[in-house]
Amino acid sequence: MTASFPASQANERLANVQLRIRAAAQQAGRDPGEIALLAVSKLLHSDRIRELYSAGQRAFGENYLQEAEAKVAELSDLRDIEWHLIGPLQSNKTRGVAETMHWVHSVDRLKIAERLSAQRSANLAPLNLCVQVNISGEDSKSGVAPNEALALVDAVSRLPQVRLRGLMGMPEPGIGEAATRAQFLMLQSLFIAAKAKVPGIDTLSMGMSDDLEIAVACGSTMVRVGTALFGARPAN
Ligand SMILES: *Cc1c(COP(=O)(O)O)cnc(C)c1O
Repeated sequence: MTASFPASQANERLANVQLRIRAAAQQAGRDPGEIALLAVSKLLHSDRIRELYSAGQRAFGENYLQEAEAKVAELSDLRDIEWHLIGPLQSNKTRGVAETMHWVHSVDRLKIAERLSAQRSANLAPLNLCVQVNISGEDSKSGVAPNEALALVDAVSRLPQVRLRGLMGMPEPGIGEAATRAQFLMLQSLFIAAKAKVPGIDTLSMGMSDDLEIAVACGSTMVRVGTALFGARPAN
């Protein structure tokens, strides 16, 4: 038997995060049903994913393609599991992504989306995409510049085998609540503009373990939560 995280703890952590989302939605006068939970399972063993799946979670986010591919194979018996790639994506890795993922949150240039569209099999449902926007302005962060985001949204929305769902962003870490909120609000305003431009856009992917309440208050429709669901991750 492999050492395993007690199932009751997985249940408890999941219930706790769902409660946080519900409370934040209520506080913001929003319907909690508008906010999806993506469980970020990077660097964690697939057994941990299985436990959270047993507790009812279906959508899982991974940062690294190789690791994601291994987990997809190990967990292929979990039929309705949904895989999201949320980490930076190189153009020479798009084929594996197009073959295995259901969503990609980190599209930051047209070339990547074009390759994903060309490589997505016509037998599969269109690949769901979010355009990642660099809302923190840090050079080190991936994402399209805010003033180029709507042009990219428009171009990606015209590709055949992908379905543009919305925008993703990450605030600069450790800048305090007011500055975090300002960065989330910038993404929300781009999301509203993108929705007005492209029918079918419905996803604003923002908020993590430490800032999901602020993100929900700023209109997030999908929070990406790792630590609060799984505990601390092993170092990369
Ligand atoms: C790791 C990661 C998360 C989850 O972060 P936590 O603080 O553990 O909740 C969310 N989004 C992205 C893009 C990540 O890389």
